[in-house]
Amino acid sequence: VLLLVSPVPWYPTPLGGTSAKWEESYKKAHELVQRMSIVEKVNVTTGTGWMMGLCVGNTGPAVHANFPSLCLQDGPLGLRFADNITAFPAGITTGATWNRELMRARGLALGREARLKGVNVILGPSMGALGMMPAGGRNWESFGSDPVLQAVAAAETIQGIQRNGVMATAKHFVLNEQEHFRQPFEWGIPTALSSNIDDRALHEVFVWPFAESVRADVASVMCSYQMVNNSHACENSKLLNGILKDELGFQGFVQSDWLAQRSGVQSALSGLDMSMPGDGLRWADGDALWGPHLTRAALNTSVPMDRLNDMVSRIVAAYYHFRQDTWAESLPDGKIGPNFSSWTHDRNGSLYPGSPDDHTNEIVNYYVNAQGKGPQSHGNVARRVAAEGTVLLKNVENTLPLSRTVSGSKGKYRVGVYGEDAGPGQGPNACADRGCNQGTLASGWGSGAVEFPYLVNPWEALQSAWPSDNVEVQGFLNNNVAVQDLVEQDLCLVFANADGGEGFIKKDGVDGDRNDLFLQRNGSSLIEGVAQHCGVGHGKTVVVVHSIGPVILDPWIDLPGVHAVLYANLPGEESGNALVDVLFGDVDASGRLPYTIGRSLEDYGPGAQILYKSDDPVPQVNLNQGLYVDYRYFDKYNVTPHFEFGFGLSYTTFEYVSINLEPLQEKSRLPANRPKNQIDPPKYDDTAESPTSSLFPPDFNALSKYIYPYLSSREGTKPGPYPYPEGYKKKQHPSAAGSGPGGNPSLYEPMLQLSVELKNTGSRAGKEVVQIYVSFPDDVSESSGLMGRTSESIDFPVRVLRNFEKVSLEPGETKVVTMALSRKDLSYWSVRAQNWILPTGNSFRIWAGRSSRDLPLMAEF
Ligand code: BGC
Ligand code: BGC
Repeated sequence: VLLLVSPVPWYPTPLGGTSAKWEESYKKAHELVQRMSIVEKVNVTTGTGWMMGLCVGNTGPAVHANFPSLCLQDGPLGLRFADNITAFPAGITTGATWNRELMRARGLALGREARLKGVNVILGPSMGALGMMPAGGRNWESFGSDPVLQAVAAAETIQGIQRNGVMATAKHFVLNEQEHFRQPFEWGIPTALSSNIDDRALHEVFVWPFAESVRADVASVMCSYQMVNNSHACENSKLLNGILKDELGFQGFVQSDWLAQRSGVQSALSGLDMSMPGDGLRWADGDALWGPHLTRAALNTSVPMDRLNDMVSRIVAAYYHFRQDTWAESLPDGKIGPNFSSWTHDRNGSLYPGSPDDHTNEIVNYYVNAQGKGPQSHGNVARRVAAEGTVLLKNVENTLPLSRTVSGSKGKYRVGVYGEDAGPGQGPNACADRGCNQGTLASGWGSGAVEFPYLVNPWEALQSAWPSDNVEVQGFLNNNVAVQDLVEQDLCLVFANADGGEGFIKKDGVDGDRNDLFLQRNGSSLIEGVAQHCGVGHGKTVVVVHSIGPVILDPWIDLPGVHAVLYANLPGEESGNALVDVLFGDVDASGRLPYTIGRSLEDYGPGAQILYKSDDPVPQVNLNQGLYVDYRYFDKYNVTPHFEFGFGLSYTTFEYVSINLEPLQEKSRLPANRPKNQIDPPKYDDTAESPTSSLFPPDFNALSKYIYPYLSSREGTKPGPYPYPEGYKKKQHPSAAGSGPGGNPSLYEPMLQLSVELKNTGSRAGKEVVQIYVSFPDDVSESSGLMGRTSESIDFPVRVLRNFEKVSLEPGETKVVTMALSRKDLSYWSVRAQNWILPTGNSFRIWAGRSSRDLPLMAEF
């Protein structure tokens, strides 16, 4: 595999305003931006600095043109640092539902909360880390280790959020697969690591969910901390200008991850549109890479004015596109803006707590309840997602679902609940940003976590789960259980977990990324002990795992005492209730694994290991296994997983009866030609502005550390000529794969329709996830070498997930599930052709079934 270890230049930035869907928004943006002065434009592109506003990110307003400051707030599973919100199940749990409606419903509820709190831009969903490394600290924020699962969940989430008029952010673009060395300041190194990737895996795996996010009309994309092929993701012109803005036709704006921007002019020319949180190379240092420096660069032409205009147009157009100009006042007292503070829970507080000389004291928290009411309450959405995101891995003797009417051997039926992970601990918010493992685990840690408004722990929910007096439920909520607390039980429910998170928190030897895939806090021996002694070997043990990712299930899962195992992922605030729903079968066990559970960390392959140590001044992570992420590696190298990607039991059984293919189009190698832009981007006639108008206004009362767009002197404002980077002046060929939202529209045309007949052969109603995998033809080659005289065969994963649908069936019921596959689903990225190619020779094999390794139906195309 050829890794592109040096960046490919791609200039200049394609202008926003080429898609008909965005025509109105760009028209309005044009009108407004034309009235802005340079400093006003710059203010819209640059954050005001860390803690210089109520949100984690705040842009400056354009006061005269009348454009407000925007509030950007984490995150993927709820509103960080806010009160009266919902702690939804994490992305990984949502992925495990494989339920499009629930993904959408969660996004809708999350967006609704943001709207009610006055948030303009949510910093989520996350679809990268994609999950290349099973020990990665942030995989749980996104939806699972497969591009299609990520893409579907991301698109549903985005559409749900944005239906409320709130802008969503697809993050992190791209290849922030590990936390170690993700940026310099946390890790004490001069430069962030470089994730090195080949062009094909980049397209087919890591960019895939971003393409679907752009198709879902996402407003913003966040570029990531680390480098890609040794160019910082936030100044990588190939990624931002080339892939995102040309090939994927992205109309919104690119914002930097927090301090991921590493240069001023270079990042502007490479396609960054917004600098977050505004500070320069360090937290809260009062200096910026943009702000005044961008003002100067625009005046002296080292950043062309049309680039600045485009940055601002993209941001302002996105604001109009989601009709945020029609938002009624967010604050109950009539002002516009966020009605909560990230920095205090008191009613009154400072507006700019990042500045030592700010003395404002205003109402900053209005405690608006955003949680919704009644059956539509967001807590209910959270509970449904958590229940359907619970995966049943083992269930012997139909131990589950449990019955509410039971009788025990000695009169009473005795239930024991074991483990710290079942209980409240010191409360869910004991550590900042959930940065420690104590009590029941319902979220990972970092910026992707929220303050729990409440957390129903399993112990709390289980105590009242059996209505009968005949049942005695006892809790032993620590990880050292005495044998005498086990021997009398009929049923033992034992809980264990594994935690980790974002790299700015390092706790108990876990520096964000996990060091291994073992259960933590002695979980494994706790389970072994319980399974061995429960009812002196005659009790039934049910294991519940909460985890940010896969854990090694040996040596306990095959113990005879272990009757059932539920993998409950990270369930959010309704943890205990959702667990009870599944334990008692009120909800079918219908979660499916969003990643493979291997028998060891090594099983995932050498390319799936975190780089924990490096002597290289610029640590290099070579992702040459990129095309073979997760199950694709296990399949290719014949590694037997413990439980494969897509696996999960139900309380009923399903028969895959038949599959039918209906071709909708003749196979042809290439997509249609790239269509022309639907509309023309706005044109600005710029009359040169005097540098004097960019100076601090006289008697301006500047707050220290706050990032202003103003200059203190005219120094350096004299127009160039300045050298632009190599390749700047020669116009790029637009990509043949590009133009429409997410790429050439021809790629998204359906090529075939498939129908799968499915029967519920059990005695209970239940839900099945019909999974469609594709094996590419085995004779694909491309001509290569001098004058194309030799040919090179193209290697493919054994099979790849391409579609899925969750269906609900009554006992005995049969349903036909129909799904389509698009041209892109049946194409690979040709590095040579720089386009998606659909092999037209031998047949594809289209598989349908219950997991990546249990595929009873196959048809050829
Ligand atoms: C994280 C982002 C987050 C941002 C703002 C960064 O450290 O990587 O995901 O949105 O902080 O909190
Ligand atoms: C902030 C986060 C940010 C992180 C990045 C923390 O101090 O609270 O928002 O994601 O730093 O390193």
